[in-house]
Formats: sequence, C-alpha cells, structure tokens
Amino acid sequence: MGAPGRVAVEKDCLFCKIIRGEEPANFLYKGESLVVFKDIYPEAPVHLLVVPRMHIRSVNEATVQDREIISEMILKGKDMAQEQGISKSGYKLLFNVERGGGQVIFHLHLHLLGGWK
Ligand code: AMP
Ligand code: ZN
Repeated sequence: MGAPGRVAVEKDCLFCKIIRGEEPANFLYKGESLVVFKDIYPEAPVHLLVVPRMHIRSVNEATVQDREIISEMILKGKDMAQEQGISKSGYKLLFNVERGGGQVIFHLHLHLLGGWK
C-alpha cells in the first residue's frame, strides 16, 4: 500500500492523533478514507481541513498510487463547500507544500476557505 516506507499512521503526528481520537477536533465528516474537521485557527469565515486517514507527509510525497485519495479530497472539498452554503459565493481549495509553502503540519491536508461577503 502506497510508496515504499509509507506508514499508515505516524506516532507523533497531530493529525494522525486527531484521526485516532487521541486529540480533540470539531469533525464535520468521518469517512472510510478521509475526515473533515474545522481549522482551530480559522483564516476565513469557513475554514475546514480535508484530511486523508493515511499518513502522507505532503504533496511532494504523493505518488500516482495516491490519485484516488487526492481526487476524493478535492471532491469532498467541493461537497463541503456546498454543505456550508459557500459554493455560489466562491472558495479556495489549498495545499500548502513543505515549510516554504506554509505547511506546518506534515500530514497531507486540503484547506477549504470561504464565506467572505
Ligand atoms: P498547514 O499550514 O497547511 O500545515 O495547515 C495546518 C493547519 O492546521 C493550520 O491552518 C492550523 O491552524 C491547523 N491546526 C493546527 N492544529 C490544529 C488542531 N489541533 N485542530 C485543528 N486544526 C489545527
Ligand atoms: Zn499523520
């Protein structure tokens, strides 16, 4: 499953802990392969994180074998935008990649940002 050396769960990863229920989060969706919870420091009126259960460090580490989960993340972002009532007004789906790209949690996640007037 996944690239060589890929682990399903990383012991000290905050998002793995949230997914395992060892750290609290405000979940909006829990599915077989991904979850959605509220960003704790929102940078928009709606700021959600779409997070695969599988520990993938960043987009840099994603391979062609991850194409299914990555497309699921984007489609879930779209569905959550609709559910939050921000589809028409518009939103951002954003991957920060590694430190220079603003990534601080090294477990792949897609930001859904929107709800501006
Ligand atoms: P990034 O900068 O792309 O790595 O995004 C990580 C995001 O995780 C930031 O927007 C943080 O505000 C958010 N975050 C950090 N800790 C938590 C937490 N315990 N629960 C929810 N979101 C968090
Ligand atoms: Zn993780």
